[in-house]
Amino acid sequence: MKVPLLDLRAQYAAIREEIEPEILQVFEEQGFILGPRVKACEEAVAGYSQCKYACGVSSGTDALLISLMAEGIGPGDEVITSPYTFFATGGSIARLGAKPVFVDICPHTWNLCPAHLEAAITGRTRAIMPVHLYGQMAEMERIMEVARKHSLVVIEDGAQAIGAEFGGNRAGSFGEYGCFSFFPSKNLGGAGDGGMVVTNDEARAEKLARLRNHGSKPKYYHAMIGGNFRLDAMQAAVVNVKLKHLDAWTEGRQRNAVRYHRLFQEAGLAPDPVQLPEHPYADEPDAVGKDHRHIFNQYVITVPRRDELRAHLQQQGIGCEIYYPVPLHLQECFSDLGYKPGSLPESERAAERTLALPIYPELTDAQAERVVASIRAFYREG
Ligand SMILES: *Cc1c(COP(=O)(O)O)cnc(C)c1O
Repeated sequence: MKVPLLDLRAQYAAIREEIEPEILQVFEEQGFILGPRVKACEEAVAGYSQCKYACGVSSGTDALLISLMAEGIGPGDEVITSPYTFFATGGSIARLGAKPVFVDICPHTWNLCPAHLEAAITGRTRAIMPVHLYGQMAEMERIMEVARKHSLVVIEDGAQAIGAEFGGNRAGSFGEYGCFSFFPSKNLGGAGDGGMVVTNDEARAEKLARLRNHGSKPKYYHAMIGGNFRLDAMQAAVVNVKLKHLDAWTEGRQRNAVRYHRLFQEAGLAPDPVQLPEHPYADEPDAVGKDHRHIFNQYVITVPRRDELRAHLQQQGIGCEIYYPVPLHLQECFSDLGYKPGSLPESERAAERTLALPIYPELTDAQAERVVASIRAFYREG
């Protein structure tokens, strides 16, 4: 039995009948860029994220980029972020000529650790970009407190966390900007690249809408320089259909997380050698969805001999992945920032020991059992 890391074909089979007419309709209309479907998508995602405004853009990366651009962040500015994330988080800051300043993560959630924040703030700091990694939100109350105290803008990288909640409030609704990705492997994925920025600030929403279209207003008049960061109608059509299913899919992912927790404990693998991800309802499935809502874009375990385990699982036809093998502060392209191995120990430790397992909503009991049995065989018999 093969167990893929993610099975988008299973998802598509369940929604094909809803998606196909929408796509055909886009062809009938021949209106491919922005338009009413994008507007409907913006309204739906803004509402879903407890925000007033949204701006559909070309990717999650461009959502981050355009938010930084809207604040005029560039050379001489510093933006504090997490080193343990997908490259786009740090890359978007550096592309504008600003300096990413990496602050280490909390060991149990892998998110930016608020305790280290203030020490990283300088006279050049303009913004904080927390990442809600794997679908679990960073500690936004403490982060917002520090940001307010130092008058810093907060840009949430919620690419993996649409619909996640911290204290009942949704990802994207805390900071000045919330950024989402519709990359197909995200919980709300399109049929290609796409993304969105949400905000509660009308002036910022207006600026984002201009920047994504070369800064023009009215057409062919440019008081500011933007780019082509537009979302297309096809992506919006797909996202509009999928958004209706997102909560049910999230519940499926949460159920799978609870099931893994039970299976790993029954197999005698947790907490040693397999350290399970810490999340608010690991031990109390009844609390699923309450207060801190984890949407499980990934289910990530911490293990010894991680690379060997990964090879073993792959050989058994079980999908797994390392997110991420090299923290950003140790990437070659950031070597001039002066970080060294040991600079941010929790991120480096996570990069060496974590492994993501299949958690997608359609994963069956038998598949989950197979994943755990295979890990058991590696540690107990291998
Ligand atoms: C996927 C992702 C992005 C980038 O999104 P794209 O749509 O692929 O550009 C940014 N940050 C994080 C944390 C991500 O997981």
